Amino acid sequence: MNNKILNQSSCCDRNSKDEACCCDPSNSNCCLTENTETYEEKTICPICDDQGEQVGSITVKHLIKKEKIEDVIDENYLLCMNEDCDVAYFTETGAKFKTNDLKVPLWFKKGADPKYACYCNEITEEQVIETVVNTGTDNMKDVMTAIKGEVRSQCKVKNPLGKCCTKAFNEAIGKGLEIKNS
Ligand SMILES: [Zn+2]
Repeated sequence: MNNKILNQSSCCDRNSKDEACCCDPSNSNCCLTENTETYEEKTICPICDDQGEQVGSITVKHLIKKEKIEDVIDENYLLCMNEDCDVAYFTETGAKFKTNDLKVPLWFKKGADPKYACYCNEITEEQVIETVVNTGTDNMKDVMTAIKGEVRSQCKVKNPLGKCCTKAFNEAIGKGLEIKNS
């Protein structure tokens, strides 16, 4: 895969002078990393033992199915990134939600359908690849605009990691370029 694409700076880099940001600058918290504390405690998935990625409970509250929402506790959650594991979110205290407790599929899990590259704008990996193949553009913002016109950003409550989709999106662009250039 093309490293230059994968290493594209985050679309949410506030210091960036270019116009490639998908984020609405008025949305102050879309891409701030809030987890500044270091956690020494156990952060591995209770089922598969993989290391989890930290996610705030606000993100979990927005993505969990209505009937499960009262089970969300006010604690930091971890997202199990193992593609084979059924666990979505878990806490250090043993609470957990499975992937089918969520309103949206987790893009990195096996069988995710649809597989979103951008949750805020509901853009699938397939759409990104198709757009890259058809237009040749490798710029994230251009791809988004080509698919959706106006783009908005609500990463904190829409993306399962509570973070910007840049990495997954650029991976999809990379896949599109590979197809185009093959
Ligand atoms: Zn797991």
